[in-house]
Amino acid sequence: MKFTSFKTGGIYIHIPFCVNKCPYCDFYSITDLSLKSRYLQALLKEMQLGRLPSLAFDTLYLGGGTPSVFDPVEIEQIIETAYAQLKILPDAEVTLEVNPGTVTLDSLKAYRAVGINRLNIGIQSFQDANLEFLGRIHSAKDAALAMAWARQAGFDNIGIDLIYGLPQQTGENWRFDLEHGVQLRPDHLSCYMLTCEPGTGLDRDLRCGRYRPLEDGKVRALFDLTMDYLKAHGYLHYEISNYARKTGEDAPPRMSRHNLKYWTFAPYVGLGAAAHSFIEPQRSWNYSDVKRYIRKLDSRKRPVEETEVLTPEQLLTEAVFLGLRTIKGIDLVAFKRKFGLDFLMSYKKTISELENEGLLQRQPDRIALSRKGLALLDSVVSMFTGQQIKVPDYGGVDP
Ligand code: SF4
Repeated sequence: MKFTSFKTGGIYIHIPFCVNKCPYCDFYSITDLSLKSRYLQALLKEMQLGRLPSLAFDTLYLGGGTPSVFDPVEIEQIIETAYAQLKILPDAEVTLEVNPGTVTLDSLKAYRAVGINRLNIGIQSFQDANLEFLGRIHSAKDAALAMAWARQAGFDNIGIDLIYGLPQQTGENWRFDLEHGVQLRPDHLSCYMLTCEPGTGLDRDLRCGRYRPLEDGKVRALFDLTMDYLKAHGYLHYEISNYARKTGEDAPPRMSRHNLKYWTFAPYVGLGAAAHSFIEPQRSWNYSDVKRYIRKLDSRKRPVEETEVLTPEQLLTEAVFLGLRTIKGIDLVAFKRKFGLDFLMSYKKTISELENEGLLQRQPDRIALSRKGLALLDSVVSMFTGQQIKVPDYGGVDP
């Protein structure tokens, strides 16, 4: 991880509508689609109100929720307004998250025509039983069709999301999804471990004993299988859950330019209900309530619920947390330049304990988690972040 190595920012636009609420999901979204058009107007107003950062942006990401509940004409309005109000660079990566249950060949062609140049398709699984457990609105056939239509529509940069670690899932079952995913040759694959977040339907079902989560050892085996399978099939593992397809010497793997910003301390502006912004050292977030968000904008007020200024110590903790998620790990020279601290000296005891357990790997100028460390990310990170480190003469953003 190199801090603030990007001078350009990213724009995230949240579309908080879904046809159905998936039981594992804790993203902010609602299923009352009747609010869509008022929300769209509010979103356009948020961009038109002004006082947005004067940064240059090279990514625009429409996420959700299910952005593909908005038709291409509505998406065009959002994109046009964003381009009119913010300085978006000509070669920007413009991503739309789509749900296979909400697209057709024609709609994908139309999204392409209005300026979307990257798709992220929420496939999750190529098996109907898994999709049913996950509460998805699409079938395995819809998933494969969405991918085929996306290529037909002219998209040459496509990411897909898959989920593993379902109750009773075997290696064979997960391998089936990996095989089907790889056969479609997506440019990018995100493989997320199913987690049971408090307050979700999955959490309630767990408490009622409706299912038993997969044992840790088995989840770990699926994580290992993912890494081995995707590496063997030409994918570069660059963040704990993310893989980019290698396309040859001259063409670098297509990592998600937008998501890289989150892991590298780059600035990003969030628009829409529940969206977060980060422009060092400040973080802010909008109301996670569509009606309140609309009301604020109807009265021409910014829909920001809260703003906080991170202390140097908080920024340092975040840098460690984010850096260890990446496969390259933390760039020790950049860390020193940014925080005025020698990472190896500051965390000497923790590093030595983790190295003894085979959880860290060190190179001359970087430190990263080993494969075993990645599988235990949360506990490893908490050993670093639980340690109080005082940052001397914080230098802030790199020149
Ligand atoms: S479609 Fe996506 S955002 Fe909507 S509920 Fe399901 S997982 Fe969450």
